[in-house]
Amino acid sequence: MTATVESTSTTPVANAPGPDRETFTSLDPATGDIVGTHPIHTKADVDDAVARAREAAAWWGALSFKERGEYLLTWRSVITRRIAQLSELSHRETGKPHGDAILEIGIAIDHIAWAAKHAEKVLGQQKVSSGLVMANQSAYVQYNALGVVGVIGPWNYPVFTPLGSIAYALAAGNTVVFKPSEYTPGVGRWLADTFSEVVAGRPVLQTVTGLGETGNALCVADVDKLAFTGSGRTGRKVMAACAENLTPVIIEAGGKDSLIVDEDADVKAAAEAALWGGMSNAGQTCIGTERVYVHERVFDEFVREITEQAKDLKAAPGEKLGPATMPSQLDIIRSHVQDAVDKGANVVMGGPTAIGERFVQPTILTHVPEDSTEITEETFGPTLAINPVKDMDEAIALTNATAYGLAGAVFSAKRGMEIAQQIRSGMTSINSVIAFAGVPTLPFGGVGESGFGRIHGPDGLKEFTYAKAITKQKFKPVLALTTFARDAATEKRLVTLLNVLHGGSKTLK
Ligand code: NAD
Repeated sequence: MTATVESTSTTPVANAPGPDRETFTSLDPATGDIVGTHPIHTKADVDDAVARAREAAAWWGALSFKERGEYLLTWRSVITRRIAQLSELSHRETGKPHGDAILEIGIAIDHIAWAAKHAEKVLGQQKVSSGLVMANQSAYVQYNALGVVGVIGPWNYPVFTPLGSIAYALAAGNTVVFKPSEYTPGVGRWLADTFSEVVAGRPVLQTVTGLGETGNALCVADVDKLAFTGSGRTGRKVMAACAENLTPVIIEAGGKDSLIVDEDADVKAAAEAALWGGMSNAGQTCIGTERVYVHERVFDEFVREITEQAKDLKAAPGEKLGPATMPSQLDIIRSHVQDAVDKGANVVMGGPTAIGERFVQPTILTHVPEDSTEITEETFGPTLAINPVKDMDEAIALTNATAYGLAGAVFSAKRGMEIAQQIRSGMTSINSVIAFAGVPTLPFGGVGESGFGRIHGPDGLKEFTYAKAITKQKFKPVLALTTFARDAATEKRLVTLLNVLHGGSKTLK
C-alpha cells in the first residue's frame, strides 16, 4: 500500500482509474498536473486491512486511556512540527491557499489534543444513582470502544473533517481504517504514515485508497461503525450498504447555511463574516455561508459594505481563492447562478461569466428567488445569495425552509441567542462564522439532509462507543422482587412504595 509520487503531467485523467485499473492519480486542480499515483484498493485489500485493524484493536483497546492519550499527543506533535509538509500536500491536492490549509490543520490538531486528554473523563466508568426502589444496588456506566471504525472522508477539508472522526474514534479505543477522497489520497496516506511512526508495527490507523467502490467495500466490511462525510447522495448509498450488516453509521453531509443580519447588527463585521464564510476555501465548505438574510433597514448598507470588501478578492493561483477542487462542481455552480439570474436575481458581482475552466470568481447575487437552486441546493462555490427580510421572524422562517440543517450564523446586538435557538440546525455562531468548529467541547453535525450523528466533544467521543451499564448488589433487597419466592405481601409493599414515590400529584418545580 505505498504511494508513488510523480512530478510531471502527460495526459492525466482526473481521479479516474489508470490504464492498469490498479492505480489512480490525484491531480493539482490549479494546473491539472499529477500530484500522486495511488493504488485502487480492492474489496479483498479492504477486508485484509479491516482484519488487521481487528487484531490491532485487541491491543489498542486494552491500553489505558492515558497510554492511548500519550500516543495521540505524540502524533499531534508530529503533525504540528510537519505542518508545512502537510499543508503543501493539501494545497497541491485541493488547490487551497497554504494559509487556509494551515488554519484547517491547526484546528484539527487542537481536536486531537482535546480527544486525547478528555476521553477518560467522558468515557471512563462513573457511579450513578440507583434510585430508591433499587437502593440495594450500586450502579455504574462506562463507554466501551466498538472495535474497528471505518471512516470515509471528503476532499474539501481533507485533514479537519476526517480527523473529527478518526481522532475521537482512536481516543475512545477503536482502531480505524480510513478511505480518503480520491481527490486527496496523498493527505490520507500522510496521516496514516505519520501515525504509524508513532505507533510502530501496529495497524491502529490505516488508509485505503480508491474511488467509490473502495468506499463501498469499507461499508460492507467487518467494521463496527462507519463514519461518512460527503454528499447526501453518497450518504444514502453508504447507509444502504451498511444496512446489510446492521453497521451503524454517522452521516456528515452537505448544507445550505444562512447568515442572518438583524437591524441592530454591526453591519461591517457581518459583511466581513459573510464574505469569508461564503468565499473562503473557494466556497467549498460544508458549513460555509450560502444564503444571507438581511433586515431590510440595513440591507442597502450591507450590500454596499460587502461589495466594497469583496472588490479585491480574486480566484487565481497565489490569490486568496483557489480553484474548484472537483471540476465537475463547476457545472453545478454555473447552473445555480444561471437559474437565479433567469428567475430574476440581481447580479452585484461576478455572475454566470465568473465561472471559468478551473477558477470561479466571487459572485454576489441579491433578490434571489427562494425557489431557485441557488437557494434550495448546496452550490459549493464562492457565491452568496443575499436577500432582504422585513423582520427576524421572516429570516428564521426562510433559513429553516430548507431540507438541510447543518449550521449558520446570526449577527445581532440584542437578539442573537433568541434567534440562534430558533434555527433548525446542528450549530450556530452568534456574531461570528463557524466559530463552533474550533471549540473542541462542542458537538459537530447536522439534521435533515445534513445528516446525523455527532463528531467532536463528549458527544463525538461517545459516538464511537457503546454504553455499558453495570449493577453490583450491595445488600439483599428489602423487597425481593426478582425471584419466584416473591409473595403477595411483598407485592403489596411494592404498591405502597410506588404510591409513596409516584402516587401524589406533585409537579416539577
Ligand atoms: P462525495 O459524496 O462525492 O464523496 C465522499 C466520499 O465518499 C469519497 O471518499 C468517495 O470516494 C466516497 N464514495 C463515493 N461513492 C461511494 C460509495 N458508493 N460508497 C462509499 N463511499 C463512496 O462527497 P465529496 O464531493 O467528497 O465532498 C463534498 C460534500 O461533503 C459536500 O456535500 C459537503 O458539504 C460535504 N461535507 C460535509 C461535511 C460535514 O461535516 N457535514 C464536511 C465536509 C464536507
